[in-house]
Amino acid sequence: MTLRITCPHCGTREIDEWVHGEIPVVPDDITDADDRDVDRAYFHNNVEGVVREAWFHLYGCRRWVTLERDTRTDAFQ
Ligand SMILES: [Zn+2]
Repeated sequence: MTLRITCPHCGTREIDEWVHGEIPVVPDDITDADDRDVDRAYFHNNVEGVVREAWFHLYGCRRWVTLERDTRTDAFQ
């Protein structure tokens, strides 16, 4: 089964056209700006469940969209 993502600009496309990354949630108790940047860049949450992700339509419109995906099923919300 091939996963598909619906782009608001291009319509439904194969997942192979996209690259993505987790939108990190930095804990509030990290208040130093440099420490927050390090946490955001290097410490991924790797959540089992629904996560917000930024997807870039690399082989389409070359725009970013924010989607929610369940990591257990790969279903988009
Ligand atoms: Zn697109």
